[in-house]
Amino acid sequence: MPDTNVRCIVVTGGSRGIGRAVCLAFAGPGSRIYFNYASSEKAAQETERLVAEKGGTAVGVRVDVTSEAEVAAFIKKVVDETGRIDVLVNNAGVTRDGLLVRMKEADWDTVNDTNLKGAFFCLKAVARPMMKQRFGRIINITSLVGVTGNAGQANYCASKAGLIGLTRSAARELASRQITVNAVAPGFIDTDMTADLTEEAKGSIVEQIPMQRSGTPQEVAAAVCFFASEEAGYITGQVLHVNGGMFTS
Ligand code: NDP
Repeated sequence: MPDTNVRCIVVTGGSRGIGRAVCLAFAGPGSRIYFNYASSEKAAQETERLVAEKGGTAVGVRVDVTSEAEVAAFIKKVVDETGRIDVLVNNAGVTRDGLLVRMKEADWDTVNDTNLKGAFFCLKAVARPMMKQRFGRIINITSLVGVTGNAGQANYCASKAGLIGLTRSAARELASRQITVNAVAPGFIDTDMTADLTEEAKGSIVEQIPMQRSGTPQEVAAAVCFFASEEAGYITGQVLHVNGGMFTS
């Protein structure tokens, strides 16, 4: 029997980095967290363990967000088990960097299929249950470079700019059902995604950040929790930058 007193939260890409921090930020006795991942089973189990340590419940499922069928089955499982979905955080993302002239079609497709189409599939799957319950919070993780652009990341920037368009359109479509749709735009955050950069490259990025440091996944998770709160119910279609002062709109 679904327990309707529990707040149900779905996070994509919860096995590592920002997604794991988001799961942990929501963790507690009153919440049930479902997250997915692409292949890192061990990391997913660690997220489950860390959430349990905080008195919460998290269920990690291997679901490829680029597959509409897998996403639909995942969301159906969540609704069958909990009877509702309060929060969706579209966080799963990848990079395949390269200069435009050398960028392969496959790298364009992988990035856009994961970051943009994957978010569309998840949003579409939760929209009906959220409309029925006349409540929902959807938060899309975009990026600073989705607004500014970045050399060597045309595919990634296009996907993240697209996510902002998706956020604003969905916000308008779903507002009358008391469903908010917002985006969080991190700047330079310490995760596996940025770990491959050389110390020199990291140093030159940090030099451009007014706060003179990279951000933490927890600092991004705090912005997500704000949009997910009851109190943020009149805020929709917005992009909140979390970037140490690098860019303000
Ligand atoms: P990580 O590389 O640390 O984690 C990515 C997560 O996405 C993992 O959980 C991964 O699963 C999951 N994932 C990737 N592809 C798929 C897929 N096809 N289906 C399901 N899950 C998938 O990334 P970050 O934590 O750094 O980034 C999280 C989000 O924040 C991304 O959208 C990213 O673009 C955005 N962002 C990050 C910034 C940064 O500086 N780190 C800056 C701005 C935005 P698995 O572990 O199985 O691979």
